[in-house]
Amino acid sequence: MLRLPKFELASPTTVTEAVAMLASTPGSMVIAGGTDLLPNVKHELFTPPLVVSLADIAELRGIRAAPNGWTTIGAMTSLADVAAHELVRARFPALAQAAGLVAGPQLRAMGTLGGNVLLDTRCQWYNQTYFWREALGFCLKKDGTLCHVVEGGSKCVAAASNDTAPPLMTLRANLVLEGPKGRRTLPIDDLWLADGAYNKKLEPNEVLVEVQIPPTTAQHRGAYGKLRERGSIDFPLFGVAVRLELDAAGAVDTADAVVTAMQARPLRLKRFQDHLKGRVPGTESFEEGAHLAADSAYAQCHPMPNIPGDEDWRREMVPVYVRRTILAASRGEGPVHHV
Ligand SMILES: Cc1cc2nc3c(=O)[nH]c(=O)nc-3n(C[C@H](O)[C@H](O)[C@H](O)COP(=O)(O)OP(=O)(O)OC[C@H]3O[C@@H](n4cnc5c(N)ncnc54)[C@H](O)[C@@H]3O)c2cc1C
Ligand code: SF4
Repeated sequence: MLRLPKFELASPTTVTEAVAMLASTPGSMVIAGGTDLLPNVKHELFTPPLVVSLADIAELRGIRAAPNGWTTIGAMTSLADVAAHELVRARFPALAQAAGLVAGPQLRAMGTLGGNVLLDTRCQWYNQTYFWREALGFCLKKDGTLCHVVEGGSKCVAAASNDTAPPLMTLRANLVLEGPKGRRTLPIDDLWLADGAYNKKLEPNEVLVEVQIPPTTAQHRGAYGKLRERGSIDFPLFGVAVRLELDAAGAVDTADAVVTAMQARPLRLKRFQDHLKGRVPGTESFEEGAHLAADSAYAQCHPMPNIPGDEDWRREMVPVYVRRTILAASRGEGPVHHV
């Protein structure tokens, strides 16, 4: 059994208080639902002297429709609530589907949207006990100088593995962050660094307050596809969010897709819109466009042995999941996964 090392726990009731507590102790960390943080602390991946809980900050919970058409989701809103919420399901189906496929029901009840967006990268050589990692000589991300994935590599390539990041990127969501210098708004696309050691451009001691999502139209279509070993609980071996916006004639006007569980940051699929623009869902032409977009995703995506699952098999699954998720989105269906 892995024991939880000792740390101080603080429970502020305002974001400003939380930020001040974080700033007061070097190495302190935020805990939201704790579903990733606590296993990582048990594995001695993090050794925070102080853990600041956001559980008592009422401002951080809830889903609200703003008068300007934007939707605001508090960082401490549970994934179960995001997945079930009527507004999210109607306006942002891919986000509701992705939140509903994170881990299993207990973890979605505890896990939060904020914790999912800010999830640490994952690697099969890193998410292990201290004993296991020590026996291997550690690695670049923690305590060592080698990478076991890329021989001779000088940069960690642990994988972004958070399911809600791809749909939030296709939706062009903004993150509201509060730190010692005050509040700022950051487009989620600008959050990421291509470095698995730490893949986020957060300022020290910043807290994610809420996620703001711009309006979608009645012609919005979205779906999420997720490949994983066990359909009941696992992290993604591949995840793809698809967004389609149709015009008045029912043809694709704009299209976007973002994938996860590949590299250190979620990746936008290149030339995705070119393959689908002008095509009408339900037609042969649209099916052809979906095939072309899937082939193009295959050319772009090169899974690495950073997470479990044979990488050649994972690559073969890329076009399958991309094509199926495009078709599901176009039909107002999804998610695409196996149980
Ligand atoms: C068995 C298992 C399976 C899982 N499967 C999946 C999966 O399929 N897909 C997936 O995406 N995840 C999965 N997870 C990981 C995790 O459960 C989810 O990502 C969850 O959403 C994390 O949210 P949390 O609130 O528990 O975050 P925490 O564990 O509390 O925090 C995660 C990280 O974010 C930081 N943080 C959290 N909230 C804030 C905030 N508001 N401001 C600043 N920093 C913050 C923490 O400091 C920490 O670094 C799985 C976990 C387990 C144990
Ligand atoms: S990608 Fe390499 S450096 Fe990064 S966690 Fe995995 S083994 Fe370590």
